[in-house]
This record gives sequence, C-alpha cells and structure tokens, in this order.
Amino acid sequence: MSENAKTTWDNILVYVRERINPQSYNTWFGSSRGVELKDDVLLVEFPNGFFIDWIEEHYYSILEEAVQHINGNKLRIAFKAIREQGDRPRKKKKRLILSHDGTKLQERYSFENFVVGKNNEFAHAAALAVGEAPGEAYNPLFLYGGVGLGKTHLMQAIGNFIHRQYKTLNIYYTQAENIMTELIEAIQKNQQMAFKKKYRTKDILLIDDIQFIYGKERLQEEIFHTFNYLYSQGKQVVITSDRPPKEILTLEERLTSRFQGGLVVDIQPPDLETRIAILHKKAETEDIRIPSNVAYYIASRVKSNIRELEGCLIRLLALASLSGQDVNEQLAEEVLKDLLGSSSKITKQMILKQVIEEFGFSEVELKGRKRTQKLALARQTSMYLIRTLLSLSLAEIGEFFGGKDHSTVIHAIEKIEHLKKTDIEYFQRLERITNRINS
Ligand code: ADP
Ligand code: MG
Repeated sequence: MSENAKTTWDNILVYVRERINPQSYNTWFGSSRGVELKDDVLLVEFPNGFFIDWIEEHYYSILEEAVQHINGNKLRIAFKAIREQGDRPRKKKKRLILSHDGTKLQERYSFENFVVGKNNEFAHAAALAVGEAPGEAYNPLFLYGGVGLGKTHLMQAIGNFIHRQYKTLNIYYTQAENIMTELIEAIQKNQQMAFKKKYRTKDILLIDDIQFIYGKERLQEEIFHTFNYLYSQGKQVVITSDRPPKEILTLEERLTSRFQGGLVVDIQPPDLETRIAILHKKAETEDIRIPSNVAYYIASRVKSNIRELEGCLIRLLALASLSGQDVNEQLAEEVLKDLLGSSSKITKQMILKQVIEEFGFSEVELKGRKRTQKLALARQTSMYLIRTLLSLSLAEIGEFFGGKDHSTVIHAIEKIEHLKKTDIEYFQRLERITNRINS
C-alpha cells in the first residue's frame, strides 16, 4: 500500500466527512482505503461492488468537489471491490473523470423518480408546467418547504427535463451560497462585469436555497437585477427556499414582490402512503425489491423527512449486502435502532451554516484570522456550539477553524458561557441558532 495513496484518500475523506451526515459517512466511507496512486489515478478499495455502485451514483459530485478542493488537478479515482458479490450483477461502470467547473444537475433527480403525493402534487404540477414551457408558464417559480422534502429534486428535475428537450439551452443550477462566494470574488478581483454576464446569459437559472441571501443586501441587489434582466428576455428562473418569500426577513420589498409575481408553491411532509411509495421507488432505482412489510415498518417510523427515509433504506441495503442476507424486518429493526437511537445527525457544517445565517459571515471568514468584534463573536459561537453539540476535542475544533490553538478554543467557550449568563439578547440568539440546528 502506498503512503501517498492513503494520504490522498484520507484528505478527500476529510472533505467528504464534513459535508455529509455521519451515518452516511460511516456506512459508505468507513471501510474504504486508498491503496495505490499511479499516473494520477487513485485506486480506492471498498468492501464490495454494491458499495462502489452506490458511491458512484450518489457521491460522485462530492468526490469531484473534494478532488478539486484538494489539488485541483486531474486526479482520477478508480474503485476496487475487496470481495465481488456473487448474486447481484454489477451495474455498468461509469468512469469518473474528476474535473469540471460549475455545479451539475444530478440525473437521478428526475420527474420519473419523483413520487407524487398529496403533499407535493401542486408543486410537482407547477414544476412540470415550467419544464414543458420554460419562460412561459410561471416565472419565477418559487418552491418552498422544510428540509429534505424534495425541493432540490424538483428543481433539478425541471433542469433535466428541459435539457432533454432543448439541448442547446443554457441551463444553470447553483446554490445561493455559491453565488455569494462568486460575488465576493468578483468584487475582490474587480470582475463584476464578468459576474453579471455569467448570470445574464443563462436561459434557465435555477437558484437553490435562496434563504441564504437573508440580510445580504448586495447579493439581493445582484439577484434582483439578474432576475429582471432574465425575465425581460423571457428566460426562466426557478427558486427554492426553506420558507415563503415574505418570511425571508429583510428581503427587499421589490424582490419579495418579484417572487410573489410568479408562482409560489409549497411542499409539505409526505403522508404514510407516500412515504411507502417513495421507499419502493428508491429501492427500484437501485434494482432491489423490498418486501411491503419492511417498507411499512420503516415508513411508519421515519416521518420527519425524505432524506432520512432514504438514509434508512440505504443503510438497510448496505447492511444486507455486507451480511449477505435478504432485506427483512429484522434487519430493518436493527438499522432503525441504530439510526433513531443516535441523535447525532448534526454535523459541523450544519452548525456553521446556521451561525453563518445568523451572523452573516462566510465560512472563510469564520475560519480565518481576522478579528473584528462581530466576527470574533460569530467564530466563538460556532466553536462553542460544535463543542457542546458534537463533543469534539479542543484540538479538533482548533483544526477545523484553520489550525487555531486549543487555548483559543477554550477562551471562546468560556467567553460564550459567560455571555450566555450575562447577556439576555445573546442568550436568545444562541437559543434560536440551536433550535434551527436541531430542527
Ligand atoms: P430539499 O432540497 O427539500 O432539502 P431534496 O430535494 O434534497 O430535499 O430531497 C431529499 C431526498 O429525498 C433526495 O434524495 C430526493 O431524491 C428525495 N425525495 C424528496 N422528495 C421525493 C419524492 N417526492 N419522491 C422521491 N424522492 C424524493
Ligand atoms: Mg435542497
């Protein structure tokens, strides 16, 4: 085994680990190993072919991002199964060429893979209408709803659908957070024109998680003008948010009314029947059938969101593949005990995200060295929350914040504990952030 391969893969894993939930991370990446690095190809071992299929299908983008982030080179990752499984034929293998720019649409987020229930039928119909007549039906289409209820899926389904019909249209999917990063960079490098041009030359602009623009005036301004421009050209804009436009506080009035001017639709949590249907659908796309009693067993217990529902199924399939058993209720029970028992679905990244939302700094700033009073407070708050919610060691926290000394972390925690007791406004603020992280 080459040391180099191990280090390279471990670096990639650090990136991945911070961005997906611990359950998925442990399930899929926990037993992987970087074994060889030759001619820019990194060979990585997984327990069996099922894992490899899964990784290729679901973690392609994040691995791509990780590679970009780590060395930006044309590193290619190849997978190897330690043990080939006998009964299940491997799917056709995709080659992973890891270099590209911009965020891509995921093929699996299609209308075909989207289960329609009472909770989302209106949103689905609206999305389909936009897909069929971009720029004509509803503009913008504004989809909102809680975490893991299918906003990103529907939004990308629109993109995929349009792409299939009109190959030449310029479709662009991005998260509001990315636009922010680009905007900051454009300002720093004095390339605002290029930034504007980039967004104004899209035919279909899909902006995910717009709630991020909360409190960011300059960003709102840019998005407003971009939207007006695209709208006047008959281009389609689709937006998602975790709450309705009027609840994105401090959203400029003209932007709110712009959003309201199109169609605003919500997605509600799915009922039991829909949850069962979703499980069957997911299994089907993995070429696996799950018995009805197992689907019922899971769907009646996991109610909060579809991502979690999916998480359960995935873990169940992984466990079945590792133990060579069929999917049955007993296995499902084991998986659920595991999942429902561990309350730590919270990740560092989730904590940062909420702190960022509350204080309005960027991740780079939080991990950086600048120490204005407000920034320091936001940074200390994140350190405190990571410490109390995740029980990480002081060293790990320091590391996460760009290699800070553990005494800095101690200082942060003490400071926040003091503030909590003495500053009621701050106390409420902390409560608010904590609630959002937990919800
Ligand atoms: P959101 O963006 O609202 O947080 P996502 O679109 O990321 O949620 O959905 C979370 C997961 O649940 C995705 O894997 C998605 O494919 C799946 N999902 C959500 N809604 C449905 C649905 N109606 N049918 C099938 N899968 C769904
Ligand atoms: Mg989403």
